[in-house]
Amino acid sequence: TYVVTENCIKCKYMDCVEVCPVDCFYEGENMLVIHPDECIDCGVCEPECPANAIKPDTEENLEQWLQLNAEMAQNWPNI
Ligand code: SF4
Repeated sequence: TYVVTENCIKCKYMDCVEVCPVDCFYEGENMLVIHPDECIDCGVCEPECPANAIKPDTEENLEQWLQLNAEMAQNWPNI
């Protein structure tokens, strides 16, 4: 899965949302998140993010963000 990280906070450019083929972005209070069970790992969103906030989960030290994306995706609306 891909994961949204701290550069997204208060950004919300939304370019990523428009390109995602499976609509797995969810809108939290101050950032967007990716639903880990819905993301198909296509990678299309990563270069579209002007804030460089989207990372593949193969990068290190993302545990905290993976947990936050999963939690928020279940509790906030799909966009
Ligand atoms: Fe959507 Fe693909 Fe990005 Fe996953 S990697 S959030 S499926 S655009």
